[in-house]
Amino acid sequence: MTTYSVPDGTTRPLAVVTGASSGIGYELAKQFAKNGFDLLITSTGGRIDTVAEAFEQLGAKVETVQADLATYDGVETLYQQIQATGKPVEAIAINAGVGVGGAFIETDLQAELNVIELNIASSVHLAKRIVPDMVARHQGRILFTSSIASQMPGPFQAVYAASKSFVHSFSQALRNELKDSGVTVTALMPGATDTNFFDRAGLEDAKVNKAPKDDPAEVARMGFEALLDGKDSILAESLLTKVAGTVSKILPDPLKAELHRQMSEPGAVNK
Ligand code: NAP
Repeated sequence: MTTYSVPDGTTRPLAVVTGASSGIGYELAKQFAKNGFDLLITSTGGRIDTVAEAFEQLGAKVETVQADLATYDGVETLYQQIQATGKPVEAIAINAGVGVGGAFIETDLQAELNVIELNIASSVHLAKRIVPDMVARHQGRILFTSSIASQMPGPFQAVYAASKSFVHSFSQALRNELKDSGVTVTALMPGATDTNFFDRAGLEDAKVNKAPKDDPAEVARMGFEALLDGKDSILAESLLTKVAGTVSKILPDPLKAELHRQMSEPGAVNK
């Protein structure tokens, strides 16, 4: 793995992590802190200030921003705070994301539009602000938290899975556009991971929530290493996730949809 070595007396590079208050984003921020980066971390709630202490104990200088990235102004506020650090962004993990579980005819439209605003619109918006600065410096690393769900239609998480297909496609297109720029783009593709995601998405009684899940710390470690290595994407982290992600490249969409349905249909845990 490529590593950053920060010579004594020099400034630590800056990493920005969105959705760093819990789950995969928290663990990504920890990876950056442990490996010599200062941090600007963000989420909607006040918990972001509490978690900052954990990263400071790892030697990082940490700035926090509370912003709702599902809004245009929230993304602009974050970018203004990034600029206010006066430091170039060496790496950014565009990670904040939410899901909505349930039958499409029953799910709440506003909740699904929020998924689109956060997972899709804010990813594009933030990249639009950050990428030109990185390209001008001929240096930078971008990690998008995609998902194994990006590779399949996602019944009972239809909007979420489609949003991750967008993120994944966008990340790989951007990677190709930037291939000679000195800026790398990597997609982290977790499978089911043990975070707040499922409760927040209303997937408590879906089979996927009761099945064994991957460890967010390991998922983040693999994502961080893939980012430093400039890889295009990484399936993280269990063998099950790697196999499912690899097999999904060859299975037909109707079959993948059926398999997804079995894991995410409400009440499927009781079937
Ligand atoms: P999580 O623990 O719920 O973390 C979500 C993070 O996003 C939190 O820090 C949350 O902060 C932040 N967030 C939510 N809404 C936001 C908003 N409107 N503006 C700004 N920040 C917001 O879930 P997670 O699993 O770590 O999710 C991280 C990423 O991993 C997501 O993109 C998700 O799609 C992806 N992923 C997860 C899994 C999985 O199985 N867990 C699998 C594949 C991909 P607040 O709590 O303060 O709002």
